[in-house]
Amino acid sequence: MPTFPPNALYAVTHLIARRMGSDDAEANEVADHLVRANLAGHDSHGVGMLPTYVRLLQENLLVPNQSADTVLDAGALLVIDARRGYGQRMAADAVRRAIDRAKEMGACVLAFRNASHIGRIGTYAELATAAGCAFTAFVNVADHHDVQATYAAAEPRLGTNPFCAAVPGPDGPAVMLDMATTTIAAGKARVAYNKGVAVADGCLIDADGNATNDPTGLIRDHTGALRAFGTHKGSGLAVMCEIMAAAVAGGQGAFDEAKGGILNSMLATVIDLSKLGDPVLIAADIQAVKTHVKSARSAPGFDEVLVPGEPEKRYAAKRSEQGIEVDDTTWRDIRAAAEMLGITPAEFEQAIGANQT
Ligand code: NAD
Repeated sequence: MPTFPPNALYAVTHLIARRMGSDDAEANEVADHLVRANLAGHDSHGVGMLPTYVRLLQENLLVPNQSADTVLDAGALLVIDARRGYGQRMAADAVRRAIDRAKEMGACVLAFRNASHIGRIGTYAELATAAGCAFTAFVNVADHHDVQATYAAAEPRLGTNPFCAAVPGPDGPAVMLDMATTTIAAGKARVAYNKGVAVADGCLIDADGNATNDPTGLIRDHTGALRAFGTHKGSGLAVMCEIMAAAVAGGQGAFDEAKGGILNSMLATVIDLSKLGDPVLIAADIQAVKTHVKSARSAPGFDEVLVPGEPEKRYAAKRSEQGIEVDDTTWRDIRAAAEMLGITPAEFEQAIGANQT
């Protein structure tokens, strides 16, 4: 499997985004987001998304350099429609506005609608926590065939509808829960399919509603479904993500007609902790929770107890040093997508080569 230094993948992503029509700032935002997702260990939301983004562009389902529509700007409420803009930039811009508003007013509720795929939600939590804010997001996925079977369902009715909550810490979020409400993210089934490996037990059902470990049906044939995580409780969270993002925030829903794109909407809250209490005391209590949770003896089969966000930090430290592996199928698809945009092999190699060290 080829392994690349992060800056080589950044350069390739920047080149592809520029050729898709993004200006330099947008291409940088997309490249930074995708490479950081790979660094965090979420290859499902890293550079492997580029071929999908090129397809969305070609089908007019993703709009580079889009300007967002501010539907409502009323004190602590911001309603922003991204109008199919490049998700990584549209969402980062909207969350930056929500952070500024939270700094002014103490808190901001952001209803963010209809961006093309916004990627790893933790990226936006990292923006908020870097500014001393707590962050939550209920997100839905629409404009796409359904992939999530809710509790007791034999067929899908929702997207992978991620949820995220994070609080600030001294070096990035102190704790950050960032997860699909399916047992695994759809991109992880894609990565497993590309690698030709099975997915873990309990994640997938086939077209008849029976358990399966083979991602081929879901990824290649669009049959079967990913199961909601955590039986009826996880399934309930997935339903609430749909309601908060589609009904409350007003984005496109899984119930709307799908054009084959990937549209994310989210209802996010940003709270400036310095307005809520003494940030030093809050940080001490956050640390106390972490220490208390981690002090438990680990169960048989486990080495230690972690809190959400720790695996990503460890992955990032390791991959920053050792590089990022990209599986052969994903790499071939990225090269084919670049070629489709008219990027020559020489240009592609130059972007990687100039950044190999
Ligand atoms: P995951 O299952 O790898 O991790 C989920 C959460 O569990 C994370 O907060 C992680 O820190 C925590 N965790 C993992 N192992 C742990 C352990 N041993 N102990 C304690 N905590 C642990 O993540 P996922 O559900 O596959 O989601 C991957 C990414 O996909 C996320 O970044 C999410 O935002 C993104 N996503 C995006 C969309 C979209 O449409 N934009 C849709 C779904 C998911």
